[in-house]
Amino acid sequence: MSEKFDVPFQSNVVPTILELGSTLQFKCHKGISCFNACCRNADITLTPYDIIRLKQHLGKSSTEFLKEHTVPFQMDQDGLPGVKLRTDNDGACLFMTDEGCSVYKDRPTACRYYPLGNMIRLDTGAKTEHVDYVLIKEDHCKGHEEDRKLTVQEYLIEQETAQYDEMNREWQQLMLMKRSGGPSVGKPPEATLQMYFMCSFDMERFRRFVLSDNFKATYDLEDSLYEVLAKEDVSLMQFGTRLMKQVFFGLRTIPEKNGVWEKRMDERQEVWEARRQAEIQRQQRTEDERYSGDD
Ligand code: SF4
Ligand code: SF4
Repeated sequence: MSEKFDVPFQSNVVPTILELGSTLQFKCHKGISCFNACCRNADITLTPYDIIRLKQHLGKSSTEFLKEHTVPFQMDQDGLPGVKLRTDNDGACLFMTDEGCSVYKDRPTACRYYPLGNMIRLDTGAKTEHVDYVLIKEDHCKGHEEDRKLTVQEYLIEQETAQYDEMNREWQQLMLMKRSGGPSVGKPPEATLQMYFMCSFDMERFRRFVLSDNFKATYDLEDSLYEVLAKEDVSLMQFGTRLMKQVFFGLRTIPEKNGVWEKRMDERQEVWEARRQAEIQRQQRTEDERYSGDD
């Protein structure tokens, strides 16, 4: 098995694979002829941490931010929801100004990386993921013609990606597990997809969910953890990713109250058995149709 995590932007250009020590020739600066060209045609997928940084920058709740500044899209064939930055009708990022990016200090991961992207993969038998870097060369970007050479590592330090990488890692692992199939069975139900969206992107709504009596009756958490989750977005985001590992894959990442786990597993067995029976019946129908066509 070798699975990749998405490059955090879309492009028709075939990327070159690089390592941290590889050299690239690139410089972006305000005086360059293509200044803002990339932001005029922005296709930026946001990570949960990107949303926290941007909504804090704008002084908005994540619910408001999602409504005003993002558009939803499907990240995979199972309908896993993702979000992209909203653009104007011509495709320009709403944060672009004549002076450049108006949220530069808190710009998203994909904007920091460009013209690089990262692809995470888990090789068969490996315990940890491997990160490949890709260089995207697009005609409109003249930064590749500038006379400056540096390593991928130096470029990432310059763009201050380290904190974003650390904060994105666990969520990227979740995406990787989802793509690899994991121990889950079939397409997640709609309610699970909605829960994933809330746990990943909408911290205010997720916080209300976590602090509800229903949640507290199900999960066995220390009061001190509830206090942290009540006020810290990043801790809540990390907790959300752990919770989704439990919901998607049945990993016991969050302790549950006595008997709840066993009851849930019993219910899952019933769901899995029902799906198995439905699949057998579907195959049987296909066979019957084939034989009736032979008559
Ligand atoms: S967030 Fe900033 S850097 Fe990213 S596309 Fe928008 S204007 Fe450009
Ligand atoms: S050099 Fe590339 S990244 Fe910089 S403004 Fe121009 S198009 Fe954008």
